[in-house]
Amino acid sequence: MFSLQQKEYFKSLETPFYYYDLELLKNTLLAVKQAAGSAYHVHYALKANAHPTLLAPIVEAGLGADCVSGNEVKRALECGFTHEKIVFAGVGKSDKEIAYALDHDIFCFNVESIPELEVIDLIAASKNKKAHIALRINPNVDAHTHKYITTGLEENKFGINPYEFDQVLDKLGSLKNCRLIGLHFHIGSQIQDLNAFKNLCLRVNEINQWFIHKGYLLDHINLGGGLGINYQEPDTAAIVDFESYFSIFRNFLQLPLQQQVHFELGRSISAQCGSLISRVLYIKHGINTHFAILDAGMTELIRPALYQAYHKIENISQSDSSLTMRYDVVGPICESSDCFGKAVELPETKRGDLIAIRSAGAYGEVMSNRYNLREGVQSVF
Ligand SMILES: *Cc1c(COP(=O)(O)O)cnc(C)c1O
Repeated sequence: MFSLQQKEYFKSLETPFYYYDLELLKNTLLAVKQAAGSAYHVHYALKANAHPTLLAPIVEAGLGADCVSGNEVKRALECGFTHEKIVFAGVGKSDKEIAYALDHDIFCFNVESIPELEVIDLIAASKNKKAHIALRINPNVDAHTHKYITTGLEENKFGINPYEFDQVLDKLGSLKNCRLIGLHFHIGSQIQDLNAFKNLCLRVNEINQWFIHKGYLLDHINLGGGLGINYQEPDTAAIVDFESYFSIFRNFLQLPLQQQVHFELGRSISAQCGSLISRVLYIKHGINTHFAILDAGMTELIRPALYQAYHKIENISQSDSSLTMRYDVVGPICESSDCFGKAVELPETKRGDLIAIRSAGAYGEVMSNRYNLREGVQSVF
């Protein structure tokens, strides 16, 4: 919901642009901190949105950083995250990225395979360093989310499977420059059924016990991220119910007291504070539909095209919603998948109207690209 003042401000700007509500971000951070309490360490997943202006309040709130590339590690350091709070995940870390992270003494590498362990050990040896390792484990828990954002099943490319554990521990025994400090799990994204997290807890308890029996009582257990948001109700559900989320772990995780618990939340922190604001270029009447053609497209926000994601679409120039019509809201890009929503009910919409595509603060601007030699998108606060 935008105030009159905000709408006037938007009118004066060139479209399309991302608008971020920093007040909402700060309130979301307060809610996360309160719900997590002092016992849980929360890291922010930079891949959701790594804009320095958003990272500043996140650093200030005391969160750590979860990075999936060397440049994200670099961004995290530049924006003030301390090296002891940076974790680095990803199935394909390059030698250069590993070397960079080692040079900056990050907290931990979340390692996804034996070949990766060997390379980290080699590079760490060349620098006379000891790399801190958490094994990213594939717990085979179904997150019941879109197949493109499910990561915790055996068939996914992510993580190490339980049948490989013995082999991994043998290997670690022979690597002098890697020190195993934890276990890491991440089962997917946009998870709304909290039962998936309960199932994760039960699997983590079992797997952790297995390691303890083998003589590995590890200091850190990282449960990853994935908490979903309500894309249907960006205003009434602007802040996720973090209390319910963390209480699942309080109720079902059974870990020895000395083990520290970490989380890596992305979407649930930054999604609702961002909207993509765009103008209607043309209204075009098809045989059975009307098209509202925007000046923003899949180049600015690819989620609908990439994983059929729903975003609430609002005409913020027309306040009279007594007469509504259905529009296919599309972008200007030369791809049929460049469509933000089909049969979207909007007040009668005209050229020049401002359209807000809501809940776009995560996996929006960071995925924008220059296909069709587009201009690139601005951010506004
Ligand atoms: C993407 C990712 C996250 C964050 O996921 P969200 O769904 O945005 O909370 C956390 N950890 C890892 C390893 C990831 O790849």
